[in-house]
Amino acid sequence: MKVKIYHDRQACIDCKSCTMLAPTHFGDGEDGKVTLIGGKEEKDLVFVKEVEVDEEGLEEIKSAAESCPVGAIKYEVEKS
Ligand code: SF4
Repeated sequence: MKVKIYHDRQACIDCKSCTMLAPTHFGDGEDGKVTLIGGKEEKDLVFVKEVEVDEEGLEEIKSAAESCPVGAIKYEVEKS
């Protein structure tokens, strides 16, 4: 399935929770702050990327989003 991931870098408080739960998609950026790996800025520091994942991959994204204390991670599952 295709999933669109959103990371709001403005809201992000850099707690690193998502980098532990979803290291495929979140890591330290060049500025040392958490970044959406391979993401492109859509607007106002909101970075987006689209990935193809299986159920396990979706769980990884879900757990990162649910663990984020400031709601900076959103995702949409795209129906095929
Ligand atoms: S879990 Fe949320 S606040 Fe913490 S680093 Fe990730 S996006 Fe930022």
